[in-house]
Amino acid sequence: MRYYLENNFVLKRLETPALYGIQEDELYELDETAFEFLRKCSRPEGCSADGAGKEFIEYCLSEKILSDTSSPTLRRPESLPGSSAFPSLRYLELQITDRCNLKCRHCYIDKPGQNELSPEVIKDILCEFDSMQGLRLLITGGEPLLHRSFGAINDLLPGHGFRKILFTNGLLLEKMAITELNVDEIQFSVDGMEHGHDALRGSGSYNMVMHAIKAAIAAGKAASVSTMVHRENTGEFAEMERLFKDMDIRDWTVDVPCLTGNLKQNATLNLPPEVAGPFLNYGFGGGLHGGGEGYACGLHLLSVLANGAVSKCAFYGRSPLGTVSEGLRKCWERLKPVKLEELECARLDCKFMDACRGGCRYRASIADNESGPRKRDIYKCFAYGIIE
Ligand code: SF4
Ligand code: SF4
Repeated sequence: MRYYLENNFVLKRLETPALYGIQEDELYELDETAFEFLRKCSRPEGCSADGAGKEFIEYCLSEKILSDTSSPTLRRPESLPGSSAFPSLRYLELQITDRCNLKCRHCYIDKPGQNELSPEVIKDILCEFDSMQGLRLLITGGEPLLHRSFGAINDLLPGHGFRKILFTNGLLLEKMAITELNVDEIQFSVDGMEHGHDALRGSGSYNMVMHAIKAAIAAGKAASVSTMVHRENTGEFAEMERLFKDMDIRDWTVDVPCLTGNLKQNATLNLPPEVAGPFLNYGFGGGLHGGGEGYACGLHLLSVLANGAVSKCAFYGRSPLGTVSEGLRKCWERLKPVKLEELECARLDCKFMDACRGGCRYRASIADNESGPRKRDIYKCFAYGIIE
């Protein structure tokens, strides 16, 4: 009997050897023996059971990691040869353009329409991310579908051993053949039910994005949603939660906008921490911004902005780690992970440290009613109820 690694799985060398299921976004830690066996199974000729236990093979067959018949479809390549950094770079937010077809009242981009990454630069970024053993790529903007060479960028995506997620406002998807998008998931900005969403994004935009989400799901794409808490949508969260669960939305990310960009001119939409914080308890699924044991947010995340700056996340675009011309790895190595023990949260011995990990470090850094270099994220403190 010969065994074949299913097309959807790629082997990764992260902090430990690992297997990544692109379709389900599942990461399995492996020992060296299992890694070596699966590596052999990933070759077109597959491999025999030599070197693997019966129980392990049965588990892999039941999880559809292995098949005992060779697939006629093209095999995804293993991740490009290379190595992970420590901590590993797993998630990359790639802002391919800052052009947009909306003028959202909370948008953090100060002057949109100035910058765009070329397909040549994007090609190099994708290859380096792959060789650094990356897991998830978020293609973002502005509105990424407005990139002047979006078709060429879409053509670069197949074959890379990571999950590709397109983050869009959904308005252009109606005109686009969704099945031709070479992405595994589409993430939509939905900032409320019709009233709340349109208050931020313009009249009629809610109906258009909901139409686009349904079309994406009908076309077989996983769909996820990202929502900002603001003054006009606080009465709509329970309804959104029901709707998104009914629609089989995969991940629902809920966040509070920072007072930057357009929100400065629309500050009445902004809510104080005691009102906005508790809404951070909504949402489900996983995101890219999490911490790790002993570390605060963004432990495995890097952002590339449309002007070529590379930073911890888009909020840190004004204090970049470097530029794409230097390569991702160099920039990544300059990023010093934030240890939880350095935070005010540790001094206060917060019992929610393991779950909260100090919340959003950018939001904490700009809070004006806290003091100290490693402040708490008081929105999260209100979410956990440690400040009432
Ligand atoms: S600072 Fe905030 S936005 Fe940036 S990675 Fe951390 S949680 Fe995400
Ligand atoms: S709830 Fe507040 S004090 Fe506790 S870890 Fe989160 S930000 Fe820090």
